[in-house]
Amino acid sequence: MKRLISIFSLLSVLSCSTSEKEPYDLVFANATVVDVIKGEVIENQLIAIKDDTIVRVVDMANQKEVSASKKIDLNGKYIMPGLWDNHVHFRGGDSLIAENRDMLPLFLKFGITTVRDAGGDITPSVLSWKENIVNKTLDGPFIFTSGPKLDGHDPAWPGSIQVTNSEQINDALDSIEAIEGNYVKMYDGSLTADTYYQIIEEAERRGLKTTGHMPMSADLLTAVDYGLDGTEHMYYVLKACSPKADSLTKLDLGYGMVSTLVDTYDKNLANQVYTELAKQNFYITPTLYIGKTLSQLADADHSGDSLLQYMGQGIQKTYQGRIDRAKAAKESGNNSRSKLAALTNQMITPMYEAGVHLLAGSDCGPYNSYVYPGESLHGELRALVKTGLNPQQALITSVVNGPKFFGLERYYGSVTNGKVADLLILEANPLTNIENLTSINLVVAKGKSYNLNELRDLLK
Ligand SMILES: [Zn+2]
Repeated sequence: MKRLISIFSLLSVLSCSTSEKEPYDLVFANATVVDVIKGEVIENQLIAIKDDTIVRVVDMANQKEVSASKKIDLNGKYIMPGLWDNHVHFRGGDSLIAENRDMLPLFLKFGITTVRDAGGDITPSVLSWKENIVNKTLDGPFIFTSGPKLDGHDPAWPGSIQVTNSEQINDALDSIEAIEGNYVKMYDGSLTADTYYQIIEEAERRGLKTTGHMPMSADLLTAVDYGLDGTEHMYYVLKACSPKADSLTKLDLGYGMVSTLVDTYDKNLANQVYTELAKQNFYITPTLYIGKTLSQLADADHSGDSLLQYMGQGIQKTYQGRIDRAKAAKESGNNSRSKLAALTNQMITPMYEAGVHLLAGSDCGPYNSYVYPGESLHGELRALVKTGLNPQQALITSVVNGPKFFGLERYYGSVTNGKVADLLILEANPLTNIENLTSINLVVAKGKSYNLNELRDLLK
């Protein structure tokens, strides 16, 4: 809990005592509040904001004249919590720091007021942006960050911390705690199953959340027993749903086992796994949109993408690696990515219905070709709806489960008293059609409002 308190002393949301006489900073009149948790709307509401906190939500009929620095009549427009993208990356080395920073306003442009950074190699910069965003000297979403990833003796990504024994695990977790990292992100470039379990065990002892990739030599339910809180992407839950998992592990195939896992997916076993994961309060970030984007990389022409212009030249160069690999896979006739994408779509509804917490995350950032900040989270939510979730369920994976992962549902997830004033104002109801999420009229981040002109100016 130590970590959470420090986040909020930074956000100053705990200092939200306001007297009736005091003028509010921002008031919305005639708002239609979208209750994502209940899946309903409440019309004719007045919402008052002081500093970065919602301090009053009341029916217009019960509210006399209010005094506020800024009053906006929403004329029935819809107001909901700002979106969370629960898997993003800032990375690419010192030469790309400025280009990474320049992507921050794109999140706001698309209504994303919080991101969960899943690790990279420019942590000091990410931490300074985080502080500047809170101080409102930089426009961007609030950042929860893992800091550097933990990997084995030969890390897949630059900037990762190498851990191969318990002393290094302790040092690594000390360093994550020292920078007030919000969780521990593990990566499987060369992490052994034993070290992976040991990280989880020690992080659990310290009260740190753990998620990330899992070595394909490890077993998901064993890791959950050690205290694992979540996984990113679908490979690892897929492995748990194949009766061949143990025999494939012995062959030491790494991701080479994925196509067999897809072929041997067992629905009954899967339902048992989902029930167990739900019981253990487990989180899965499916990242469907990037899965689909990468599976089509060999054929798709992205040169006309409207958001490509906002990606720096250095970031665009990082796209080439995945493009080359997709073309090589196509030439060799390897279609495992598209087979995987098709199966993972079928896994979403049964997981959701079993009670597994899903997290909407885009995996946007350098190296992840044409997965643009902001737009890609909308793509993820649309992809979740396409698998069979209704719009309310899809929204829950962003604005409700995002904070829940960090135990912060007290401060986020609804337009009610005492919550952080991160808000999205829409022309149309997102509960009836997920496409309505793009009808953005206004975005409020930590109490600061941005109208359409201001959002456009941020991108200049
Ligand atoms: Zn990622």
